[in-house]
Amino acid sequence: MKKVIKSKLCCHSVDKTRCIECYLMGIPCSSICIHTRQKYHCKECKILGLGGKNICEHDRRRTDCKECKQNGTGGVSICDHFKNKYYCKICKILGIGGKGLCNHYINKSMCSKCKNKKIAN
Ligand SMILES: [Zn+2]
Ligand SMILES: [Zn+2]
Ligand SMILES: [Zn+2]
Ligand SMILES: [Zn+2]
Ligand SMILES: [Zn+2]
Repeated sequence: MKKVIKSKLCCHSVDKTRCIECYLMGIPCSSICIHTRQKYHCKECKILGLGGKNICEHDRRRTDCKECKQNGTGGVSICDHFKNKYYCKICKILGIGGKGLCNHYINKSMCSKCKNKKIAN
């Protein structure tokens, strides 16, 4: 058995670049901002111009923002039906998305029918 490569994880078994505890201990974490948040998702950093790249002008995650999709500046996770691409039934039917849904059009991880199948196998 090979040992898991542990160099990516810190002593708290968290991704080194994202560990808030390490940051508080004075170990630099490239993804943590001065507000001890994930830099890309920090609204305060966005206001200061230091980060918050994933936050749009509507205070949402840019990739998930419907308004950003409408004005063409984001919303890559949103489909043409203004749903999350990954969980859009119409997209699944059209074969262009809905990968998060099972054949019963239910969230894969939530579908009891699929779970039963797995146990049966
Ligand atoms: Zn840590
Ligand atoms: Zn911040
Ligand atoms: Zn937006
Ligand atoms: Zn869709
Ligand atoms: Zn299912």
